[in-house]
Parts: sequence; structure tokens; C-alpha cells
Amino acid sequence: MTELSEKIYYADQNILNRIESDFELIDRKDWYRLYRNKKDNSFWRLDEWDKYQEQLFVRLESTENWTAYDDKKLRMELLKHNRGTSDKKCIWKDCDRNALTEMAFCEFHAYTEMGLRK
Ligand SMILES: [Zn+2]
Repeated sequence: MTELSEKIYYADQNILNRIESDFELIDRKDWYRLYRNKKDNSFWRLDEWDKYQEQLFVRLESTENWTAYDDKKLRMELLKHNRGTSDKKCIWKDCDRNALTEMAFCEFHAYTEMGLRK
């Protein structure tokens, strides 16, 4: 199987299968699960399942304060990567980022103002 080279993934069935086979559950706390990759010892954080939210799997830099690790930027990057951008500007006041494909807002404003995750 290929290595997980990205820092963040949507926890789709493929990723859930990888977790099941290649990862060990270390801890559960504050709506997150901490996993260790059995092969390379990297640590990853999975959102607890919630029917209203997209579940994400994020590579951690360390296990120190692992529940507090701020992955918002990664989540926005993933949203941008997933949706793509157009050459139109975001309509939010004073924002000069490009809007997401077929949307009026950029990834930052779609994430923070609309709660969009995928
Ligand atoms: Zn914007």
C-alpha cells in the first residue's frame, strides 16, 4: 500500500480501512482519537464520528497537547484542494483570495462563515 504522504485526509472508507489495518488506537479524548502508525510511528488524530460533520484524519507533529493541535489551516487547504478555485475573487469584504469553484467565497470564508468542510 502507498504511504500516507499528505498531512490531512477525509476519513472515507479507504482511510478507515487503513486505520484499521495500519494504526493502533492510543487514546480517546475530547471528541478525538489518537492513533499511532505501526510502520513509521507517526501520530495521527481522527475526529470522533458525528453525522453532522465531515470526519478528518490529521497527521500530528507530536503527541504533546495532541487534542489542542490547531489543524484549521490544514482543513482549509484540504477544502480548497477538494473544491478547486476559480479565477473570480471571493466576495467577502476586503478579501483578495480566489473563490472556490462555483462558489462566491474562498476556502477561508467558506470554512469560517459557512461551516463548509468538504
Ligand atoms: Zn474570502
